[in-house]
Amino acid sequence: MTVLDELRAGAEDFLLLIISSPSGAGKTTLCRKLRAEFPSLTFSVSHTTRKPRPGEQDGREYHFVDRPTFERLVEAQAFAEWAEVHGNLYGTSFAEIERARTNEARGIIFDIDYQGARQIRQRVPDAAAVFILPPSFTVLEQRLRNRASDDDETVRRRLAKARTEIEHYALFDYLIVNEDLDRAYDQLRSIVLAEGARRLRKATLAEVLLRTGALPTG
Ligand code: 5GP
Repeated sequence: MTVLDELRAGAEDFLLLIISSPSGAGKTTLCRKLRAEFPSLTFSVSHTTRKPRPGEQDGREYHFVDRPTFERLVEAQAFAEWAEVHGNLYGTSFAEIERARTNEARGIIFDIDYQGARQIRQRVPDAAAVFILPPSFTVLEQRLRNRASDDDETVRRRLAKARTEIEHYALFDYLIVNEDLDRAYDQLRSIVLAEGARRLRKATLAEVLLRTGALPTG
């Protein structure tokens, strides 16, 4: 039984939130704001075979590994989901989700692509999934070109991939258009709050209330 099977089986007050988007839609900025406002939510650190960008640190943005190491982890069934994105392999380890649960986080946020979203949802159907849309392909291209870290070829590859990613919008519960950052963030934080309340409404808490007459505070 994996940690995801346990989460599906139990009525646990633990939020699984998937946030996905084509690169350049502003997901990283939105996630940074979430991290600041909701410190009780842990961000899943994926494994990847991509080379670190300037400023990225092993174990913080990603666990950077080579392809043979990644393939060994796949073989050992260490991943809750994994996929090839833009020619590199990316995956979420079960250990990462375990870590969030044992650290007493209230939930975990996955910044993963639609292929990963599909795999997590298949294992835990009530994981919440949000997709961030750019207001237009022109804006998306501008944002990608403004990123000094990526070369021309990378930008072109990512743009071509954006359409495919957006075509998978139907896998997601929520769509947010990131035209105005503040407005987009307002919607995202409302989703987190509402999803938290959805879990709090679940049977366990109501049962505690019925049995003991009061709920623990906090
Ligand atoms: P980047 O290389 O720009 O950090 O990420 C590229 C894409 O890979 C993003 O769309 C990101 O959401 C996705 N990604 C990052 N980690 C994972 C993961 O663990 N699994 C999957 N399926 N996609 C991931």
